[in-house]
Amino acid sequence: MSLGDQLASVAIEPMGLTASEIQHSESARERVLVAAGVGDAHVGNDVWRQVVERVGRVNERAARAGRGGGRCKQCDVPVMWVTTVAGKSQALNPLPRDMGNVVLEHQGRSSLVAVTVPPAQLPVVGRAARLAHAATCSAVVSLDGRRGVRPWGRDRPALSQQVCPVCEWPLHRALVEAGLDRHPMCAYESEACLEGVASDSSR
Ligand SMILES: [Zn+2]
Ligand SMILES: [Zn+2]
Repeated sequence: MSLGDQLASVAIEPMGLTASEIQHSESARERVLVAAGVGDAHVGNDVWRQVVERVGRVNERAARAGRGGGRCKQCDVPVMWVTTVAGKSQALNPLPRDMGNVVLEHQGRSSLVAVTVPPAQLPVVGRAARLAHAATCSAVVSLDGRRGVRPWGRDRPALSQQVCPVCEWPLHRALVEAGLDRHPMCAYESEACLEGVASDSSR
């Protein structure tokens, strides 16, 4: 397997990243290297371009496979449109991820609703969990910060009062609305997640 394939495969599963996260977030790329077990490797731009392309294709396919496949109207990446318990429409990143916080549940005979799992109950174990697209939408939050998703995007006033317990930056309102209590990449520093990674690699 080429290095690009190796990186793309962990970025797809278990990380479930979007192409734009890998493209814009240095911290997402660092996490991919760690998850692939090549934390100290030097990876050239050409390899990252292959990873971005492959992850983009897989996200595209995953979005189209479901009923709600579409694109984000703001940043144009493939997303999955779902309906929340409150009856609102919500865009999710198409790939399930290890630190996802939205699960789909059957309601009634056939319809699926999106349920946001509270931070204290994360990570979700044994079922597919996705992330609200707004939490990583490049039109909403800036993805190029040290921690992957900086507290504000183009509109700085959109900061909430809530502070991320890992990096101690305030959270963008889009993250709080997505039910998160930390930045998507900061979530990888939680103990539960580290344990998950350790048990995965010992399989
Ligand atoms: Zn978007
Ligand atoms: Zn943080």
